[in-house]
This record gives sequence, structure tokens and C-alpha cells, in this order.
Amino acid sequence: MNRHILHVDMDAFFVSAERLKHPELEGLPVIIGGNAQQMKGVVSACSYEARTFGVHSAMSIADAKRLCPQGVFIKGSHDSYTEFSDIITEIIANRSPLFEKASIDEFYIDMTGMEKFQGTYKWASELRQAIIQETRLPVSFGLSVNKTVAKIATDHCKPNGKLQVPGSEVKSFLASLPVGKIPGVGAHLEYKLNEMGIRQISHLQEIPEHLLTVALGKWGRVLWLKAQGEDHDPVLPYREEKSISRETTLPVASTDPLMLTTLLCQMCEELCHELRLSAKLCTCLTIKIRYADFETHTRQVSLSPCADERTLLPIARSVFTTLFERRVSVRLIGVKLSRFCPDDIQTQLFQDNEAKLKLQKTTDVLKKRFGTQILSWASSLNIVHPDA
Ligand SMILES: [Mg+2]
Repeated sequence: MNRHILHVDMDAFFVSAERLKHPELEGLPVIIGGNAQQMKGVVSACSYEARTFGVHSAMSIADAKRLCPQGVFIKGSHDSYTEFSDIITEIIANRSPLFEKASIDEFYIDMTGMEKFQGTYKWASELRQAIIQETRLPVSFGLSVNKTVAKIATDHCKPNGKLQVPGSEVKSFLASLPVGKIPGVGAHLEYKLNEMGIRQISHLQEIPEHLLTVALGKWGRVLWLKAQGEDHDPVLPYREEKSISRETTLPVASTDPLMLTTLLCQMCEELCHELRLSAKLCTCLTIKIRYADFETHTRQVSLSPCADERTLLPIARSVFTTLFERRVSVRLIGVKLSRFCPDDIQTQLFQDNEAKLKLQKTTDVLKKRFGTQILSWASSLNIVHPDA
């Protein structure tokens, strides 16, 4: 069956959002992320003007400053990007039969079947206009027979573009492009392919499939199929989970702050693990306590995007301390994480502590294999720890 897949992607999303607030940044090489004063951290996004200097995301701020000393360096505000992302998601959700949110600013929409009733290109153009009107942010789209070709088409017409590649033109459209344009082919693999004399996608199209499989293993076949314009990956329906939470009712109401914070930390740890499994970050934490006289108090705080207990636990403890102010025993304690954003590469670059990420990955692997009780932070155990 011939599918109709639309890929919608905001242009230099973080930079465009900053320019809405600060129009004076228009036309300048803008670089977002890290801390430019201390030359710390990495670039999470940069403007097209900055890219002409060789700056790209994931590069260290120090390198970016060396390449582009006249650049305008901004820390960035992830909260406002998430807000824009929510608005765009809602516009797409209201109009689309089936869509996937691939990252904070990138969507796939399965329009298969709609072509019988209306022009898909016209529909996509109207959707694009609606996004521009409501957000005043630039956006591009590619429309084709599968996710891979639709994404390549978007990249090809960026910024502020739109492009349809009908099934009959897929192979010829891909043929002249460099192999690095195929999603998933990074600089390292592109170099390796170039070494093999494979520069353009047409070279991949012509090479016998088994040669690629010998050189690259399983990925060789996938790559060969992509070069032919074949990709059967479905558009995965977007399910918006508004929040995740845990509550514990105490068998005997208690006023012991150490016992209560220990419980709280355990629940936070479980929630963080759950968040990471679904590749999400939260930006809001709510703590709830119900006293023995059934009076319930809650307090909510905004967070920088996070899914790690090391960041969350100290915040949870301090929120609890300010919330637990009555001299009445507590019978229920609860914690809720909400306002999620996808944990994609762009957002990960906001938390640029590599050691922290490594530790987190290791604990998740252990928890997945041996259960969530296998290890925990000292603060989630009922012992006093000076800086937990
Ligand atoms: Mg984008």
C-alpha cells in the first residue's frame, strides 16, 4: 500500500524562539547552551548564521567561541521551548488522524487514506500555515511515502520550506544526495562509506546489498533499503501522559521527618527510573502530604528538565521541609512529576554532565535486570547521610 507520511520540523527551533523575544538577534550568529563566561558546557542549538562558521550542536562552547568569536552566546530557557512545543503539539493533535512526536520540535503524521478526500500537499501547507500563525516560528515539511524520505525532504528544503517527493520520484531524488543525508548516518559512518568510495546515495543504490551487509552487518541491509527509498517503520501514535505519581499511606501516622523524607526519596527514585525508561524529562515536581486530621497540603515547583534523582532528591527534600509545617502527624505522603518533555539529544545537551549520565545508565541497567530495589541513594535508605 502506498503511504503518505508527513514530516514537520521547526527551523533552528531554540534560536527562533529566542528571536521572538529578542528581535535584535535576527541575522546574528546565535549560539545557545552552556555557560559562555566560564567557557563550560556544549552547544545545544545554533542559528544558520553560526553554522556558516562551522559551529554545530554538541560542540563544546570553547570550540564554538574559537570558531565564531563574534557569536552571541545565550544560556537558553528550556521552559519556554517546552511551552512552544506544547502549542505546536496541540495544533497537530487537533488536525491529524495519527501522529508521532519524534523530538521537542519534530513530528511525523500518517496521512494515508486522506488523499482520497483532499490533497495531502494542500493539507500539509495549511497545517504549516496554522503553526506559523499561532507561534510566529519558522517551520518546514517534507511529504513522501515513508518516514526516512519525508525527513530527508524536510532537511533538503530547510529553512522555511516545503517539499513533496512522490513515490515515483523517490529514487531519483535520493540519488544525487550525499550519503550523510540519510538519517542515522553520522560523521563517522559517512567517513567509513567515503573510504569505500561511497559518496552519494546513488552509489549505495547500485552496490549489491550483500557487500554492504559484509561491511556493516545488520545495519548494512537497513542502510541499503533506505538508499532505495524503502522504510516500513510505522508512525508511532503519540500518547500524552500528563503526569506520573506515587503515594504511600502510612500504617501508623507519623511526625518523624527522617522517616517521611526517606519514603519520599524512595518514591522519587522509582519515578525517575520510570521517566528514564520512557525517555522523558519532567519540569514540575509536586509533593503532597495528608495529615491525620485529613487536611491535605500540596506544593509544586518548576524544574529544569530532569530525570535523575541526584538533581531531584535535594529539591524534593527542601519542598517537603517547607510543606511539613504543622505539628500534626502525617498519614499519607505523595509525589508527582509532570510537564514532560522528550529526552532527545537537544534536551540532553542541557545537562552536560557525562559522568552523571553514565552512572544513571548503569543504575538503570541494574534496576531493569534485578528489580528497582537492587540499589538506591543513601537518602532513600533510613540512615542519616550528611550530603545526600
Ligand atoms: Mg528542528
